[in-house]
Amino acid sequence: MEATIQYIRQELSGFYPETEIKAFERLILEHVYGLSFTDQVVLRKQKLDHTCRKTISEIILRLKTYEPIQYILGETEFGGLTLNVTPSVLIPRPETEEFVEWIVATDIPENSKILDIGTGSGCIALSLKKMLPESQVSAIDISADTLLVASQNGQQNGLSVDFFQADIVHWENYTWKKYDLIVSNPPYVRESEKQAMSTNVLSYEPPGALYVPDSDPLIFYKRIAEFALHFLNDSGYLFFEINENLGNKMINLLKKYKLQQIELKKDIFGKDRMICCRK
Ligand code: GLN
Repeated sequence: MEATIQYIRQELSGFYPETEIKAFERLILEHVYGLSFTDQVVLRKQKLDHTCRKTISEIILRLKTYEPIQYILGETEFGGLTLNVTPSVLIPRPETEEFVEWIVATDIPENSKILDIGTGSGCIALSLKKMLPESQVSAIDISADTLLVASQNGQQNGLSVDFFQADIVHWENYTWKKYDLIVSNPPYVRESEKQAMSTNVLSYEPPGALYVPDSDPLIFYKRIAEFALHFLNDSGYLFFEINENLGNKMINLLKKYKLQQIELKKDIFGKDRMICCRK
């Protein structure tokens, strides 16, 4: 194993910081050889089968183009779930794990009807279903490709979520049930904020899941708030992941729609990252 680790380190040094290379080593050994992190510590001196060298060198080549490791390996971990990810879905972020933890820590009735808007890989919908097994979870996305990935993730994790295609901006065109909790992590990065983003995000992740025009950065939140006025039950919850720079604008927006008990929450980096309110 040590020779393989040495090889990965040598090849990637200069491309990524050391801590990131360590994380890659761990993920590659786990993915290619099925070695858990504990195995990787305990069996460190063991020789590894050389037939996998080609697979590893292919992974390294792709990492050198700054392709995200999650797309290369085709999967990622989110809140204890293993999820497939393809370039048609946004890679689930740690801040979204925090967001889900916050939702679950709220006193939500056990058998709530939940809707996740812009589900992507299905990360929010599936982890809510896992943590609130009595709930009925539905999830929508505008992209059919994305929904294929999300449904596959539901099947693989044995979680029953009703995934269907819909464009929330034009919600008037569809028939809806009523929900007790509506949640969304919509696109929220302003075009002007793009330059601060790294190559792996800019060149590989789906732009439709990330960016909004500077002229109307809250477009998705507005449409979802209007939708919630019609299809969220009274006292129901609305949870949003948000752009860290738009916390106050989000508070004003929710006030405008007469939504109640607005609560803004920071992520572990101290950034305004999520907001909750009730109807
Ligand atoms: N948090 C993501 C990022 O900064 C953006 C997610 C989103 O736009 N909903 O890359």
